[in-house]
Amino acid sequence: ISMNDPIEEHRICVCVRKRPLNKQELVKKECDIITIPSKSSILVHEPKLKVDLTKYLETQPFRFDLSFDDNVTNEVVYRFTARPLVQSIFEGGKATCFAYGQTGSGKTHTMGGDFSGKTQNASKGIFAFASQDVFLLQSQPRYKNLDLEVYVTFFEIYNGKVFDLLNQKAKLRVLEDGKQQVQIVGLQERQVSCAEDVIRMIEIGSACRTSGQTFANLSSSRSHACFQIILRKRRKLHGKFSLVDLAGNERGVDTSTADRQTRMESAEINKSLLALKECIRALGQNKSHTPFRESKLTQVLRDSFIGVNSRTCMIAMISPGMSSCEYTLNTLRYADRVKEL
Ligand code: ADP
Ligand code: MG
Repeated sequence: ISMNDPIEEHRICVCVRKRPLNKQELVKKECDIITIPSKSSILVHEPKLKVDLTKYLETQPFRFDLSFDDNVTNEVVYRFTARPLVQSIFEGGKATCFAYGQTGSGKTHTMGGDFSGKTQNASKGIFAFASQDVFLLQSQPRYKNLDLEVYVTFFEIYNGKVFDLLNQKAKLRVLEDGKQQVQIVGLQERQVSCAEDVIRMIEIGSACRTSGQTFANLSSSRSHACFQIILRKRRKLHGKFSLVDLAGNERGVDTSTADRQTRMESAEINKSLLALKECIRALGQNKSHTPFRESKLTQVLRDSFIGVNSRTCMIAMISPGMSSCEYTLNTLRYADRVKEL
């Protein structure tokens, strides 16, 4: 991959990725209700019933910067979403990339990759590809003399609280000083000098995220995981890339049966995803007021939503099956609202 392509100019990029039908869906003979007729358009064929109870499909079109079909690799998704932003942090910018969607739609697969099996079958995600390119750019003549140091952090936000995934889930405090600088107190920032170092951090953090939980995937789906690549020049912040695997956006928890804890979690997730949407919209419209304080997620990402050098990319993940139709439409409508006008 050449790193010399020009950086694209727009500040907000919104893309969609469709995952393939999985084994369970195939066993249940579920229909694939998503088609991607061109690289920017996507169609949802929603099953409906006529008054006489005959079934039909109602097609709803959406447009995004890019739509990735189910045969596209993580590397290609990376190349067209996060990669242009890697260069911007070398130019002193702040960048964010979010994976949004329902649980099981492919957020963690896309961002963190799959390191669960033996290393043979390990597949890299955007965290790893972005880190590789950081080291590639760092050694290029035009950036080499900047003498930049590379650090990574990896933390989780669960129920409005921050936990360090590179330090055994230590619970951390978030402080905001008088100048509205936000700091996560005691967050481990690990210096890294090659892509292998970073992959080790991703593995440690990912394992930490799902450890000590009986329903590992279930609980991790209720938290946001944020992996940051930080460039420093003699300890001073130069650029920062925050890559976020968001909590599942599924709503409609049955409030009559869900326990108090689950209801609180859901309310917290909804609040943070709503605040995120508003912050990205504010960035796109150069609004003076940005509602950072509405959630912990937006509060800790505050400095990435302000300034002329801030850019963001959202990848909305969708499951293709008929049974996910309602969630898929929710995801696409949310992503549609985030788009730059
Ligand atoms: P999420 O993090 O959104 O809950 P995951 O990333 O854990 O979802 O994905 C759920 C399952 O689907 C995982 O087993 C993952 O490996 C698989 N999967 C997700 N996206 C893809 C894809 N594009 N291609 C193949 N398998 C995928
Ligand atoms: Mg996940």
